[in-house]
Amino acid sequence: MDLSSLIACHECDLLQKRVALPPRGVGRCQRCSAVLYRDIPNGIERALACTIGSLILFLIANAYPIVGLEVQGNRTLASLYDTLHTLWLDGRQDVAILVGVTTMVAPAIQIGLLLYLLFPLHFNRLADGTIPVLRFLHTVKTWSMMEVFMIGILVALTKLEHIAHVHVGIALWAFCALIPLLIVAVSAFNPDEIWARVKGTS
Ligand SMILES: [Zn+2]
Repeated sequence: MDLSSLIACHECDLLQKRVALPPRGVGRCQRCSAVLYRDIPNGIERALACTIGSLILFLIANAYPIVGLEVQGNRTLASLYDTLHTLWLDGRQDVAILVGVTTMVAPAIQIGLLLYLLFPLHFNRLADGTIPVLRFLHTVKTWSMMEVFMIGILVALTKLEHIAHVHVGIALWAFCALIPLLIVAVSAFNPDEIWARVKGTS
């Protein structure tokens, strides 16, 4: 039996045989109906387009102010870097490192690794070290928590509105668009397709 044709359900652990899907088809577990795999037409190209869009939004989100506060005529603009710098100077290095890793470093590595894998795949080639990069990408994904940061910012802005006039910066809109776009990029990125190509070229 070809072991690579078997797939274990991530919900109930039932081992079952993978079958060829029709276009846009969904493979479900025979026991618990959990979605096991999908056929995503042009998945690589779709993931690449969304990742390039994510890169542009990520650069905007880091380069421009997230928020502007106006108190008694004095206006202060703050970017993500300014926020981290202020936290660091206030003696909250632990929080600064945590916010920096989850909102800047991890998303940057995630976008960079996706582009590293997807560009060669678009031209039907495999990047060097595809297998370790895929594993590392899986680890980095768990550290990318921009949505948690966004919720924190929105809660803080709601509270600040009582004491200052709040101007929403372009970076905040970029973050709002970046979060769903990166989710679409990751969901269109089908590791099964890459494993199939790795197998075909090895
Ligand atoms: Zn199941």
